[in-house]
Amino acid sequence: MNIQTPDVIYLYAGSSAKTLNVEELVDYLRIQLPKFRISVRPNLTDYYFAQLPSEQTDAELDKLAFQIASCRVRNLMEGWTPIEPMYGEIAYEKRRLQGKSKAVGVLYDGFGLSAVSFRLIDNSEKNPNCCHIVLTDQLFGTWDEDDRRYHARVGVFAQPSILSTTGLVEAPAKPKDFYILKQQSQILGQNDLAVAKLKEEFRGRFIDYDDERLTEVMKGYVMQAVFYQLTGEPFCPEPTCRLYNAHWQEEVIRAQLENKAEFCAQHSRILADLR
Ligand SMILES: [Zn+2]
Repeated sequence: MNIQTPDVIYLYAGSSAKTLNVEELVDYLRIQLPKFRISVRPNLTDYYFAQLPSEQTDAELDKLAFQIASCRVRNLMEGWTPIEPMYGEIAYEKRRLQGKSKAVGVLYDGFGLSAVSFRLIDNSEKNPNCCHIVLTDQLFGTWDEDDRRYHARVGVFAQPSILSTTGLVEAPAKPKDFYILKQQSQILGQNDLAVAKLKEEFRGRFIDYDDERLTEVMKGYVMQAVFYQLTGEPFCPEPTCRLYNAHWQEEVIRAQLENKAEFCAQHSRILADLR
């Protein structure tokens, strides 16, 4: 296998998830990849604006807000097409970029977001020696040509790779029984408390917002982004390997939390060779 080894991994801490411990992620990367330099940066957009001459801030804020708003998915059943964003959508992105509002209720095209993010990376760091991993709480999806619809994702793997803590909760499907019981309780007109109780019942079977297992689970997704950079392939077909492409929450838990060895034989070997 042809392995391209980057010198440095840049991790952009752009998720507001309360239980995400970025320092712990960095420590983990240092243990797994001791020969790599790991560099933590704030949110990619904050980092970008901090480097920018201040007289360019206003124009660039408008431009970036426009580009991010253009990544919105408007119809889950239609592939992304460039549509001029509305004034309110641009204004929302501007507020979000300024830290005045949070990313809620919007689905973006994942590869579109990655392409917009690529522009923000300094030209000197746009090369195979630099692995950029952006952590975000924005929810994104990718278009699936087979069933002709968008699917929410935890990660898009590109330059940069983007990993979503919101996607981790929303993208992999919860156990079927959960949806059936949730629907029943809604038909019965039960309130949020009933749903909270239901979530408690299923607690061990999916990752929820502010889940204390979030950091442990995200370690595997960060490694998927690293493997994408190393080999061009983020995923592994072995269901107990951290690189498994899980579509169900229970698969996430099995791959990220239940295997003490963490990686399959093949991926363990690649990691050992890199040490
Ligand atoms: Zn594997």
